[in-house]
Amino acid sequence: MTEVITRFAPSPTGVLHIGSVRTALYSWLYARQNNGKFILRIEDTDKERSKKEFEDNILDGLNWLGLNHDEFYRQSDRSPIYKKHLIDLIAKGAVYLSKEEPKEPGERAEVLRFKNPNRVVTFHDEARGDISFDTTELGDFVIAKDFESPLYHFAVVVDDFEMGVTHIIRGDDAISNTPRQILIQEALGAPRPIYAHLPMILAPDKSKLSKRHGALAVTEYREEGYLPEAIINFVALMGWNPGNDQEIVSIAEMIKLFSLPKIQKSGAVFNIDKLKWLNKFYIKTLTQEKLANEILLRLTETLKEYAKNNPMIFSKMIPIIVEHISFFEEVSTLAESGEYDYFFVDPMYEREGALWKDEKDPIIASQKLKKVLFLLNDIDDAFFTPETIKTAVWNYATEVGRGSVLWPMRFALSGREKSPDPFTLASILGKEATIRRIEYAMKLLLS
Ligand code: GLU
Repeated sequence: MTEVITRFAPSPTGVLHIGSVRTALYSWLYARQNNGKFILRIEDTDKERSKKEFEDNILDGLNWLGLNHDEFYRQSDRSPIYKKHLIDLIAKGAVYLSKEEPKEPGERAEVLRFKNPNRVVTFHDEARGDISFDTTELGDFVIAKDFESPLYHFAVVVDDFEMGVTHIIRGDDAISNTPRQILIQEALGAPRPIYAHLPMILAPDKSKLSKRHGALAVTEYREEGYLPEAIINFVALMGWNPGNDQEIVSIAEMIKLFSLPKIQKSGAVFNIDKLKWLNKFYIKTLTQEKLANEILLRLTETLKEYAKNNPMIFSKMIPIIVEHISFFEEVSTLAESGEYDYFFVDPMYEREGALWKDEKDPIIASQKLKKVLFLLNDIDDAFFTPETIKTAVWNYATEVGRGSVLWPMRFALSGREKSPDPFTLASILGKEATIRRIEYAMKLLLS
């Protein structure tokens, strides 16, 4: 049995995109499943458009996602290898030097062309079945500008051959390139690898995927506070499924269950809401310490200070914060909009806000808060938990109308239209601050 060797072969002409991650992931999974080898090959034959910063971004992104490679190559380091094969092919008569009419003065007057046998090429695709192409229309195509400058199609085929690649898993935009690559392969005497072309990733409305649909570079997702586990899980399910409708799939399960024939033929749909949902799921699996770090990082300077000086309050805020976000960068937005201030600072507000929609009489509202104060007073400081607070207030609130008691109570604590329930809030703030804030609301209502 030959060892399975797969490769991910990005061109460093742009950052690592979510669609390319899928190509990398499937190739990686297949190699890991078969105890094979996963090669990372930087395809920088296009000297003008290839940039070191893009290569760095690709490596950074793959590393962050945990898609580790066993071997690394860069095409620009391999010129002598391509040259050797060009010379061999010329000797065999499969490639010839072709005199060209320069289009512009000073342009090269000679290129290397592949002598097209002009026939129908049929190949099997693991994901799509048999595909046939008549290569006649390609003519004698150019495979190198000169001996030092191979073109993309030639370098790919030489590399896959030299590196012993057994399975080529890549985007279906490469399908139309495959017949010409097979012709080159045959001329080189290279074995034909197994192909699997992945369906395009489309926006939910089946249009071309773009930033507008939430499709970002991998490093941008990292900045937004997405977790690598969520990205991997999300990407894995765009075009493949484990044979059921399971949504949460671990890496270990993917390695076990991944299968090339199960890759779907139709376009895969990119759904940012699903990614958010997955990310929320994985965020909830993080330790309290990790959550605290990620959140702290995104608080305003003032809130950071408060959090450091009030560690108890901060640690109790964490589950509440987590409940309301799908990715960590949302914390920044909420922090900047003042959403977390009331955990640390007594809120200021207009009297109107403390009045429930069905009970607009401030005197009655104030009387109800007075009763709440009375009930809370009986709870010992050390047992000021959501449960004891709820037990203390609940019967009374039910008796006289929950909204008319709980709305002013909650508003007194947060000064906001929306906030956690008053029991949770009171327990986070502690008895002293709770009483102080309710007394303030009563004063305001009666003023
Ligand atoms: N460098 C090519 C690309 O980024 C790779 C295609 C292939 O996998 O053969 O599209």
